[in-house]
Amino acid sequence: MTLTDPARLSPRTVICPACGGPSVYANSNRWRPFCSERCQKFDLGAWASEQFKIAADADPVQGDEASQPRQGN
Ligand SMILES: [Zn+2]
Repeated sequence: MTLTDPARLSPRTVICPACGGPSVYANSNRWRPFCSERCQKFDLGAWASEQFKIAADADPVQGDEASQPRQGN
């Protein structure tokens, strides 16, 4: 039985919360626990997107049934 420990050779790897891919959890990774700067920003933007999604969902598109005449023009 060989005691080859990959963790000793390679830095610790965690799951990126944004993309679900492998993320190097080390000092070299400034965006940890994210795998990259892109994923870090993506996660931050997810909050805004989530709120926008909820807001959009609260106002469902009725379609042509409720053809309410727009005021103004
Ligand atoms: Zn990622």
